[in-house]
Amino acid sequence: MMVRKQKKKSIIEKEIKKIVGKRVKINEPVKKYTTFRVGGTVDYLIKVTGVEELRAIVCLLNRNNIGCKVIGMGSNILVKDKGISGALLKLEGTFDRIQVIREKVIVGAGVSLPVLIKKCVDYELQGTEFLSGIPGTVGGAIVMNAGTGKQAIGDLIEEVEIFQKNGKIKLLHKEKLTFDYRKNNFLKKDVILKTKLSLKKGNKNDILSMIKSNLQKRVQTQPLSFSNAGCIFKNPRNKNRLTAGELIDRVGLKGIKKGKAQISVKHANFIVNLKGAQARDILFLINKIKKKVNEMFGIKLQMEIKIWG
Ligand SMILES: Cc1cc2nc3c(=O)[nH]c(=O)nc-3n(C[C@H](O)[C@H](O)[C@H](O)COP(=O)(O)OP(=O)(O)OC[C@H]3O[C@@H](n4cnc5c(N)ncnc54)[C@H](O)[C@@H]3O)c2cc1C
Repeated sequence: MMVRKQKKKSIIEKEIKKIVGKRVKINEPVKKYTTFRVGGTVDYLIKVTGVEELRAIVCLLNRNNIGCKVIGMGSNILVKDKGISGALLKLEGTFDRIQVIREKVIVGAGVSLPVLIKKCVDYELQGTEFLSGIPGTVGGAIVMNAGTGKQAIGDLIEEVEIFQKNGKIKLLHKEKLTFDYRKNNFLKKDVILKTKLSLKKGNKNDILSMIKSNLQKRVQTQPLSFSNAGCIFKNPRNKNRLTAGELIDRVGLKGIKKGKAQISVKHANFIVNLKGAQARDILFLINKIKKKVNEMFGIKLQMEIKIWG
């Protein structure tokens, strides 16, 4: 049984290599691809550089019943210690393109938010400044509707091009694209390929000073010298308007440690990896927070980060 499984795996490995060459890694530690820097391995980590390659890989994986997900910057993910079975796809090459046409920016899903923001500065386009300090890709930001308390990326989007599991490409217009707090309501198991953002002409110095001020605020309030995945929980609705971080602080958990994982003393909705944390340590702290906040406030905190594995 084991031998047959191994044989099948090596055949699939060869077929993947036929499509992407050396851009596949087998039993690859996922921690290298996430900002939390924890977790086990994935069977196949595949870097995909264009739509035809994506189609060929998805087709091959579907045919062999191998699950697959896209990973962006891995800045909103906790991978369990046992790792992930199946494949992780990383979008590169043509997915890293940005095109500016007057006040519209057509940007590939693999582009990182800092690169997008820099391009907007170069073209004196205003509107993406609130994204500064969020370390994701455009694809990940759309999935998560990334943003701040006041704005989110969904506010800027005119169109999204997606690749469906059946191999078809679809262009979704604004009317079909609804977003909520840290989520979108239109993606199923689709891959985001690119998006068109609608921005406004602005003044370069104003744009730069807004970015600088946003980054400074983050340095002051977030534990950026440790590996982390941003806010662990969504801010819940509650009559006292307490954020998840304030709730965690009030139940007395700020600063507590499990192994090399710690609820940040700087921002209690962050858990930091003090180098060498295990995913199970982080999960222990997550469960402790959920339990305590529910016991003391009757609030069921919802996860903002995604847990894989
Ligand atoms: C220090 C720090 C600060 C942060 N601050 C904020 C903040 O202020 N606001 C905020 O909203 N978030 C914040 N985050 C969280 C995170 O950066 C965002 O959620 C970001 O948008 C995730 O993008 P990513 O590329 O890293 O996605 P990943 O974490 O790699 O993936 C997130 C999800 O998107 C999916 N995905 C990624 N790309 C694609 C694609 N092309 N097609 C389909 N699915 C895809 C993945 O499968 C996964 O389900 C912060 C994180 C850190 C570490």
